[in-house]
Amino acid sequence: MRQRIPKRYTVLIACTGRAPITLTVQPLLVLALAAIAASVPITWVGKVVYSYAHKNTVLTETNDELTEQAQDILQQVEVLETKIDDLQERAGISGQSSNQSNPASSDRSSTKMQPIARSQGGISPPADAETLLAAAQSQLPSLFQDLQLDVQPALEKTLDREQARPQGIPVKVRGTEISSEFGLRPNPFGRGYEMHAGLDFTAAYGSPVYGTAPGIVVKAGWSAGGYGNQVIVEHGYGYRTLYAHMSALKTTVGKKVDRDTILGYLGNTGRSSGPHLHYSVYHNDKAVDPKYYLE
Ligand SMILES: [Zn+2]
Repeated sequence: MRQRIPKRYTVLIACTGRAPITLTVQPLLVLALAAIAASVPITWVGKVVYSYAHKNTVLTETNDELTEQAQDILQQVEVLETKIDDLQERAGISGQSSNQSNPASSDRSSTKMQPIARSQGGISPPADAETLLAAAQSQLPSLFQDLQLDVQPALEKTLDREQARPQGIPVKVRGTEISSEFGLRPNPFGRGYEMHAGLDFTAAYGSPVYGTAPGIVVKAGWSAGGYGNQVIVEHGYGYRTLYAHMSALKTTVGKKVDRDTILGYLGNTGRSSGPHLHYSVYHNDKAVDPKYYLE
């Protein structure tokens, strides 16, 4: 017969000559206490281990995020670089010429995208966040230098030049027509041919005449050369425009004018065979065909 496990244990502690101490304990309680005593350090060790593992995971995740951010930054640097190249081209300065004028920027081509060089096959180990960020950091100063020293001034100059370039028709009323082109034409007042150094526009007498680019009025008055009431505007970058045969003037020498400034009114003064505006464009003191400056 199997011996039955007693439900309780009795522990007798005896000392000679004294009454014994009797302890009655339940085996389950003893086991539970032992388990608790054992589990405390195990739980602690577990917690420490888990904490380290967790920290490590967080660090790895942070590192991954940093690498991703660094790659993003480098991509943006590359976009910026492309845009700067584009701007340089539009401003009329090639990468080479800018490098000559600004030696610091020549570093850019040599360090260009080195750390994330396009793989030509094979497997290369991925660069870590630190390397990528250092690469981005090394490229940014030369990009900003390019922008500030080369691209910005060149673009501003280009914009100024574009702004100074005459553009549009000085008579804006509906039904305005070109009655005489630029170039050689039969002399309207006699025999042979004459050089017509501008365009003639016909429109209603008294129609307002506008400047075709911003500038300063350098002449406003009667012309001795047959242009009648005339205005000449200096635009800079070698551009000058002339408005002639006007019935009245609405500006004076030294006035700053813009594209929406009325200079005078269409008329028939001077050597003119009918109401019209004579309009000339000069570039570097040479009369050019205004036809190319109408749009
Ligand atoms: Zn004319």
